Amino acid sequence: MAATNWTIYPLLLGEADVSRILDAFWSLSREKDVVTVPILAWLLIPDGEARPILVDTGFSDAERAMSIQRLGPHRSRPEWTLEAQLALHGLTVADIETVILTHLHYDHAGGCVALPQARFVVQRSELQAAAATIVSRQLDFGGGAVFYDRRDVALLVDTFWPRVDLLEGDAEVAPGVRCVLFANTHTPGSQAVYVQTAGGTAVILGDIARNVELNINQGIPPGLYYDLEATRRAMARIRADADFPLPTHDYDIFHRWADGLPARAGR
Ligand SMILES: [Zn+2]
Repeated sequence: MAATNWTIYPLLLGEADVSRILDAFWSLSREKDVVTVPILAWLLIPDGEARPILVDTGFSDAERAMSIQRLGPHRSRPEWTLEAQLALHGLTVADIETVILTHLHYDHAGGCVALPQARFVVQRSELQAAAATIVSRQLDFGGGAVFYDRRDVALLVDTFWPRVDLLEGDAEVAPGVRCVLFANTHTPGSQAVYVQTAGGTAVILGDIARNVELNINQGIPPGLYYDLEATRRAMARIRADADFPLPTHDYDIFHRWADGLPARAGR
């Protein structure tokens, strides 16, 4: 059987204003200003018989994100919904049967509620960490569960539970699409998605890295991590593995691949 190659399209599901401090480990970031970043998901379209796959789902509610997470203004638009973004590719939410969640932060798992047919593929360790977060409840942001939204977690462990597909480590989800666990990096159970394309291996990163130049090329871990050494090793491994590293919150990456990765000849 011929190997399946995939084309990857970024879906723009919102924007948020966040500090650049998130981009680089501790004081290695000299830039402390606030920047507008996209909140992306990724649509994988196969060249063979396989079904399309969605990676991540965006957030559910800008007001809720701001009131709970306090990261700065979040913006939604009618053309930035999952429904509208999938329609650009001739798909509806009912066409999505598989969703891979890189991790369960509010801006990645918040849109699950819009996908009535999908099974949700997530690491068991991530769901456990999201349900019983280790952060201090004294913090005045994050609702006692920094960057996880407990409403998203409640849906996954109750209403959506029959459709939750738990992984324990690396797994091939479809031919040419592999989940790779990077434990205790951005979150306890963050996974990257390795996707085979005609141009090489694309690695969808979630937030394991935020800025390709800083985190991957220079090897400086991002500002938010659980285990610094695990995160440093992850940066080096991704640099070796990825022909196309794809973080979630980088407008340059979005614009570069807006018409699909790999670019088609003549475009
Ligand atoms: Zn994120």
